Amino acid sequence: MCHVCAAKDALNKGVGTPTRRAALGALGAFSMLGISAMAGMAHAKSPPKLGNVLSPDQAIERLLEGNGRYTSGKTQSRSFAETRAALVGGQNPYAAILSCADSRVSPELCFDEERGDLFVTRVAGNYVTPDILASLEYGVAVLNTPLIMVMGHTSCGAVGATVNALEKQAEFPGHIQSIVTALMPAARAAAAGPHKGSLVQAATIENIKQNVQRLQEATPLLSKAVQESKLKVIGGLYDLETGRVEVVA
Ligand SMILES: [Zn+2]
Repeated sequence: MCHVCAAKDALNKGVGTPTRRAALGALGAFSMLGISAMAGMAHAKSPPKLGNVLSPDQAIERLLEGNGRYTSGKTQSRSFAETRAALVGGQNPYAAILSCADSRVSPELCFDEERGDLFVTRVAGNYVTPDILASLEYGVAVLNTPLIMVMGHTSCGAVGATVNALEKQAEFPGHIQSIVTALMPAARAAAAGPHKGSLVQAATIENIKQNVQRLQEATPLLSKAVQESKLKVIGGLYDLETGRVEVVA
């Protein structure tokens, strides 16, 4: 029996007994070992990109500066050969992005960044699922990423479909309906309140805000990192016309 199974077995046998306390200790040690092992996978020695060791505010500044280069057409040149060797041993991205899957939105391009800089999770409608949350927790707890941006965009098809479902009771085939179900609280909230512009735009921004809050309050890892000021979670809206990312949450 491995030490984890032994610990679980001991837990089943006694509540509050010394055996149980020992078992809890063993499980705690295991989880610490697990995180250490994952961190070892992430970077064996020092972070491969020292320029990525930033505070949350510095990370926001860098993202927006990169977006400025992107919108003005002054993007940096890249050498994949140079960074390849540095990143073989690990990664320390300075920001995690929860983006829509839309092919017109590309986080590395719109922030003018390289491999190893952004930890990107994507799903149509940029909302938090259990798997997305797990990935973002890995980014923060293991890779020490100081910033998460939830990034929605103008003319989002997922949000548009949700507004259609709200206003016209539209239904969608296969598993697509699950996206609509996930985004519906934001669409309803936007429809219930005053809003400038289209309902799709208002629902897009509301969806970004709701998912920023969801991540800020996600226990146990992200909420703790936020409380300790190691992490900020913000929301961005990518404008398809200009390429500009506006901070909206
Ligand atoms: Zn979209």
